[in-house]
Amino acid sequence: MVKYQNIIPLSVNYHLTRACNYKCKFCFHMAITSDVLPLVQSKRGIKMLYDAGMKKINFSGGEPFCIQRGNFVGDLVKFSKELGLATSIVSNGSLTWQHH
Ligand code: SF4
Repeated sequence: MVKYQNIIPLSVNYHLTRACNYKCKFCFHMAITSDVLPLVQSKRGIKMLYDAGMKKINFSGGEPFCIQRGNFVGDLVKFSKELGLATSIVSNGSLTWQHH
């Protein structure tokens, strides 16, 4: 049996949503649900992972910029940076022009 209490989540990949504005045939993120955690719960989860030792978080999807025109992922990146985490986003890039 694995002792999970000894595992530190150093690098986390957070799939915010399965929704995407593209429908690539090879994609495994079929939008079978549009569920997205409320911002408060997302931040709470990030803080819990931070407290457990997380150093880096990547925001992915689906397409992260589909949610609230990118404001949702923007808030989470800001929150994560304020914690001192290394952050990154995986995006298809098609919606980022809206956020100059
Ligand atoms: S852009 Fe990415 S997330 Fe969206 S359908 Fe294509 S592979 Fe999937």
